[in-house]
Amino acid sequence: MGKSISKHHEEYKRDKIKCRGMVEKYSFKQGVGKKRYFILKENTFGYSKSKDMPLSHVIQIDQTFKILYENLEKCEIGIECTNKRGENALWKLFFSSQKSTEKWSEKLKKAVRPVWQDPNSDRCTVCDKNFQVFRRQHHCRKCGKVICSAHCRVIEGLPELGYKEKVKICSNCVNRIGNINGVERAKSLSERESLRASMFKHNSVFLSPQSMLE
Ligand SMILES: [Zn+2]
Ligand SMILES: [Zn+2]
Repeated sequence: MGKSISKHHEEYKRDKIKCRGMVEKYSFKQGVGKKRYFILKENTFGYSKSKDMPLSHVIQIDQTFKILYENLEKCEIGIECTNKRGENALWKLFFSSQKSTEKWSEKLKKAVRPVWQDPNSDRCTVCDKNFQVFRRQHHCRKCGKVICSAHCRVIEGLPELGYKEKVKICSNCVNRIGNINGVERAKSLSERESLRASMFKHNSVFLSPQSMLE
């Protein structure tokens, strides 16, 4: 038990806690299920044997932290992460009810959303062109990178990150999502923008590409 990562619950500021409660954790490596008191914070996921004990295990929510699947009927969520020994770990988490599974699922998905790239970045990640009035900047919800309108696509939600609504993602991520569902459901924002541009010629009203989404 590393002292540096072991913290009492009181040290965990309440407002930073996203979710907490007893969860049964099944580790594939150990082949056993154990009930633990879990606390999800903005960047960490930790647990202890009971509510009143210091956290014995805290893992970082980084790029290696993934939600592999969820089964609401079985009250189960599968995650992949890097454990405190720096090893890849696969856990099955079992919750007390469907409602609790949904709550944890929503919070975990939000916690794994990428950190957005600095909006002061002046070039599109895909084409490296400068942003300007007619080449607006967008943020990809999947990878967090800044992109121009030509490389921004709108898709019908990203369930793995808890987005049910239409979201903007970059063309790189569309390619990465690939044939699963991304390309079929992707709609080109640039097409819509050229449509807006042709409207702009006839009307003297400027419609920002942003307004089509928000
Ligand atoms: Zn671009
Ligand atoms: Zn992306």
